[in-house]
Amino acid sequence: AKAAGRNRYYSFDETLSRKAAMTRDIERDLSAALDEGAIVMWYQPILSDCGTQLTTLEALVRWNHPRHGFIPPMDLIAVSALAGLSGELLRHILRQVAQMIGVLRARGLHDIRIAMNVSPRDMTQMPVDTLVLDELAALDLPPEMLELEITEEIAIDPAAVRGKLSRLADAGIRIAIDDFGTGYSSLSALQTLKVDRVKIDKSFVRDLSASPVHQALIDAIMRVSQPFGFDVVAEGVETQADLDILQKLGCTIVQGYHLAKPMPQDDALAWIERHHQ
Ligand code: C2E
Ligand code: CA
Ligand code: CA
Ligand code: CA
Repeated sequence: AKAAGRNRYYSFDETLSRKAAMTRDIERDLSAALDEGAIVMWYQPILSDCGTQLTTLEALVRWNHPRHGFIPPMDLIAVSALAGLSGELLRHILRQVAQMIGVLRARGLHDIRIAMNVSPRDMTQMPVDTLVLDELAALDLPPEMLELEITEEIAIDPAAVRGKLSRLADAGIRIAIDDFGTGYSSLSALQTLKVDRVKIDKSFVRDLSASPVHQALIDAIMRVSQPFGFDVVAEGVETQADLDILQKLGCTIVQGYHLAKPMPQDDALAWIERHHQ
């Protein structure tokens, strides 16, 4: 039975072993890629006033592997954890984000923030507060120019992150809850975590015009967020129709391909020149 099974699933096995080989390749090349600067940040605008006012750029990690091509960020994060390089990757991303903040400040663009994603694993296991505050202090950068995006999973165990988040928030760093609506956290749990904004997950935003249920959900998120004073951001805005509905629902802070795609740093700076006064 085992032999028959092996035959029947031969191509499946092959795919698995190819995946394993690819993971090994990526693991092996990751450390060099970090040293050589092959892992870079792209930046996607987040706009307020229904997409007219640039407030934030979200930093999104990009690695174009010489043989395997573009590695999805989630795979990169997972492989770096397997390779024991999570800390290296986090520091690398933080350095690049800090460098971008320095560039913005040098151009007098103090009112634009950079939002950096931190994985739940790093948030709970790494001294993220100290790493972030030390990096900003070393370069004499204002904490107000940095925002951290963490997924709502962390609200499941608030005790593990409360101290770090409150230290970061007290220093002036903004906290955003990413992928909101996909987990089980309540807004009141988030309130105890010094959260400034929630980002409605893109799965609820895409095709909004065709989904009364998602419209009702966003409406509800808007209503319950208000008393807490959270900003609400809609990510994944892909069409004008979606943008129009968000405006009707009172959700005016938006991000998505319809407004601007993630761009390499130089393109993002050129984009700012054209769109920001
Ligand atoms: P996320 O934080 O929810 O980021 C939004 C993702 O949606 C990004 O994918 C972005 O390119 C994509 N996106 C933006 N606008 C649209 C749109 O209109 N439609 C659609 N369909 N997608 C849109 P990306 O860059 O592939 O990142 C995927 C995820 O990987 C991120 O989801 C985040 O969880 C993680 N990630 C990315 N960069 C980093 C990083 O530097 N550190 C950590 N820890 N995680 C990261
Ligand atoms: Ca994010
Ligand atoms: Ca998100
Ligand atoms: Ca996500």
